[in-house]
This record gives sequence, structure tokens and C-alpha cells, in this order.
Amino acid sequence: MTKQAVSRKAGRPFSYACHDRPAPATTRFAPSPTGHLHLGHVFSAHLAWRRARDTGGRFLLRHEDIDPDRCRPAYAEAIEADLRWLGLNWDGPVVRQSERLPLYRACLDDLCRRGLLYPCFCSRAEIRREIEGAANAPHGPDGAPLYPGTCRALPPAERAARLAAGTPHAWRLDMAHALTRAPALTFVEEDQGEIRACPEGFGDVILARRDAPASYHLCVTHDDAACGITLVTRALDLKPATHLHRLLQHLMGWPTPRYAHHRLITDEAGARLSKRDHAPTIRALRAAGATASDVLRQAQV
Ligand code: GLU
Repeated sequence: MTKQAVSRKAGRPFSYACHDRPAPATTRFAPSPTGHLHLGHVFSAHLAWRRARDTGGRFLLRHEDIDPDRCRPAYAEAIEADLRWLGLNWDGPVVRQSERLPLYRACLDDLCRRGLLYPCFCSRAEIRREIEGAANAPHGPDGAPLYPGTCRALPPAERAARLAAGTPHAWRLDMAHALTRAPALTFVEEDQGEIRACPEGFGDVILARRDAPASYHLCVTHDDAACGITLVTRALDLKPATHLHRLLQHLMGWPTPRYAHHRLITDEAGARLSKRDHAPTIRALRAAGATASDVLRQAQV
């Protein structure tokens, strides 16, 4: 393969004109090791791998494993074995978010020092009660009602007392305050061009849960920056999160990668493949006699 990237199949979303010479892309596959890989993952991983290989760039593997209740080292090992079997070799050491908690902590401390976070002591039930009592509660991009901001209004002395007493708490972004620190922001979606970022729809989003040291949003933007990712490829369902990620990048002074959100892979009936719905795993397909190229074909790459 020459450095000149040429899409393998005309009409694919990421085809280049032949005269283009795209810069080497650093891409990543970032699974959460909560189960075995299925065909949807293979589509995603292959896309990132292909772009790195076509452009003479790098393809990194990152396990998003900070949730100890759901993630298992055995799944992480199985993911690596499946990728190797498929020939989707990665560059450099595997990045494990569970080994990077002090880095996320440092970001949270920094945001906190700058008055951009506040501790939230509300339980889920308390938030639900509050929202149910409010007429027309606004909803975020994921469809969940937005946090009504109860703990943002806590008097400083009460906040300090609760923290000193060790009351369990999450850390939320003070969105209104953060927006005063940000100009109009944009990001580039490969097949659409520049998109205006609208992070306000997330409200006072949680950046560190009470039961987990940092949120997906913080870890993913931190690691993409720290690992020099230049092109984020991931499924379309994560596209809304990019609006918030763009704000975090601005607040932390991190570079903004390009984005290529890809269609969701579905089964013959058009249903989205997911672990929860018991999509056939790569393991199972392999055990049933499929070859790596059979699996890649089935993954619609
Ligand atoms: N860990 C996420 C997942 O498995 C992907 C995160 C990302 O690509 O930004 O869905």
C-alpha cells in the first residue's frame, strides 16, 4: 500500500480523491471490555485500522476499563486476541484507562481550581423527584432530563462542610460558567465539514461519578489528546457527545482531532448489534468455523 490513500471500495464514506495525499492519521479503537467483540466492533476497529494503514499513520488500542463493576481483564485479553486473529494489529503499547486515573484526577483538580466544577451530593432518586416536580424539564442529547442544578446553588459553607464530612458526591461541570470561557467552537466531521459545537445541551454534566473516578467524556477527550489521536472514528450514536468533547478540549487547551462517525451496524432484520442483545461474538463465529476474512466480510468492512 502506498502512502497515497485510496478507498478500497468506491462510494465508501471515507473515500479520497486520488490526487489527495492525506496526512498520516493516528487513529484508535477504544472498546469497553464489558464483553466479547461482535461484528459492530469489528467494523469500527477495521475502519480506524484501515485509515491508519492507508495513510502510513498509527493505529492505537485503548481499553476504556474504568468501571470496575462492568469491565473484566479477561474481556480485554479476549479483545486483543480477536483483533490479532483478524489481523488488526495495533501500534505501541495498549492504553488502559484503569492505569491512568491520576491523569484524570489532575484534570479534575485543574477544572475545580478554576471554578468550573462543583460537587453534587444529590442521589439519583433526589434528582428524579426534583425533575418530576418541575414542569417542562429540559432533556439532554441522550434523552435524559438535565440536572436541575440543585447543588450549584449550595452556599459555600454548606458545600465545604459536606465535603469535609466525606459525603459521597459527583463532580459536575458548571456549564453556564464554562460557556463564558469559550468562544464559538467548531469541529470537523469528515463527510460534513465544519460543525458548530453546541455543548450547552448537556447542562451540568457529570465529569466524575460518585462511584467512578472520572466520566467517559473526560477520559476519552484526555486520552485522545494525550495519545496524539488526529482522527476519531466511532459509531454514530457517540456523535452528540462530540459537542461536549469540543468544549472540554477548549477548557483544557487540548487539540481537536477530526471526527468520522460511522453508521451503526445492524443484523439482517435491521436491529443494531449490541452486547446486550446477544449479537454473535467473534469468538462464536470463529468456533463455528468462520475464517478471519469471513468475519471481516460479515462485518461489512
Ligand atoms: N468505549 C466506547 C465504546 O465502547 C467508545 C468510545 C469512543 O470511541 O469514543 O462504546
